Amino acid sequence: MTIDTYTSRLAATRTLLPQWQVDALLITSASNRRWLSGFTGSAGSLLITATSAFLATDFRYWVQATAQAPTFSLYRQQPPERELAHLLAESGAAIIGIEANHLTVGGLTELARKAEGLNWVHLPVTVERLREQKDAAELTLIRRAAAITDQVMAQVPALARPGMSERQLAWELEKRMREAGATALAFEVIVASGPHAALPHHRPGERLLQPGDALVVDMGAEIDGYKSDLTRSFYLGHDPSADYQAIYQLVHQAQSAVLDGIRPGMTSQAIDALARDPIAAAGHREHFGHGLGHSLGLDIHEGPRLAHSLAHSIIPAGVILTVEPGIYLPDWGGVRIEDLILLTEDGPELLSHCPKAPAIPL
Ligand code: ZN
Ligand code: ZN
Repeated sequence: MTIDTYTSRLAATRTLLPQWQVDALLITSASNRRWLSGFTGSAGSLLITATSAFLATDFRYWVQATAQAPTFSLYRQQPPERELAHLLAESGAAIIGIEANHLTVGGLTELARKAEGLNWVHLPVTVERLREQKDAAELTLIRRAAAITDQVMAQVPALARPGMSERQLAWELEKRMREAGATALAFEVIVASGPHAALPHHRPGERLLQPGDALVVDMGAEIDGYKSDLTRSFYLGHDPSADYQAIYQLVHQAQSAVLDGIRPGMTSQAIDALARDPIAAAGHREHFGHGLGHSLGLDIHEGPRLAHSLAHSIIPAGVILTVEPGIYLPDWGGVRIEDLILLTEDGPELLSHCPKAPAIPL
C-alpha cells in the first residue's frame, strides 16, 4: 500500500465524523488500525479528528510505527503522564466515537476515569464499511493468497491416506502453504474426517483416516495480512458410496446455482436462497445451518455477509465473497464446497481454481 492509499483512507474516514456526530474517532481494533495506518504492531490506538491523526503506542513499537505509519503522528505512550487518556484530553475533542465491539468494558471504564468529562459514542462499526471495497493492491494480495491455497489443496488427494491422523494431514497442508509463500495462515487448517465431517468447524484431532471416510478440508493462506478461504470435500476411495455421491451432487449443484446466478444489486437473502432452496427442497434445510458466505480481507470474516436473515442487505459490485454451502448429517459426515469470488458488475469472477473431484483413489 502506498502513502496515497493511507491518505485517502484517512480522508474518507474524516468525512464520516459528522455523520457519527463525534469530534474524534478512537480506533482500538487491530484490523481497522492496520487498514487505516499501515501499522502492524499488536498494540496501539489511533485518534482521528478533523485536523489531526495520532498513533499512540508503547516503547516496543516506536521505530516500527514511525516507519509503517507516516500519515499518523506518533504519540509516545510513556512515561505514565503520556497515557492514551492524556492524548484524548489534549486533543480538544469532547465527543469521542469508540469501537463498541472492540474496546472492552474495562478499557472504557479506565479511559473514562482518567479522561474525565468526555462523551463516548458507541459505534458498532466504524471503517468496516469502507473496507468492503478492496483496492487493486488488496486484490493482488488476496489473489496470491488464493492461488497458494488452491495449489496446496490440489495436493490433498495425493497426501491423504488411511492411517494418517487429521492432525498430520493438517500439518502437511500448513507446511506446504508456508513453503509456497504464505506469510501466515488465515486460520487453523480444518481437517474433519468421517463423522467429524458433520462438524462445520471441527478442530483436527488424533482420529485416523479410514477408507470410506467423508473428508472436509477448509483452509486459507495469508499474505501480508490478507487472507483467502477454500473448502473441498473428499471421499476416501475411488468409488464414493451412493449416499455420499447424492449429498455431494446436491451441494455442488447448490454452489453452482450461486456462481451462475449471483449479481450485484441482489439482496443477501436472495443470493443465499440460490443455494438454500435446492438443499431445502431435497429435505436438508436443517442440515445447512450456517450462512452461505462472507467477505474477507485483513479479517477472515468481514462484511458483507450472505445469509438468509439479511433480507435488506444489498450486495454491491466490487466485494470479495465466499460461496460455501454445506450439508452436515450427524454421525454420518458432511460436505461443504467453498470458493472465493470477486463480484463484478458483470457477475462473479472466480478466484478459486482448485478442482472439485471428491474421489481419492487409494
Ligand atoms: Zn473456509
Ligand atoms: Zn469461509
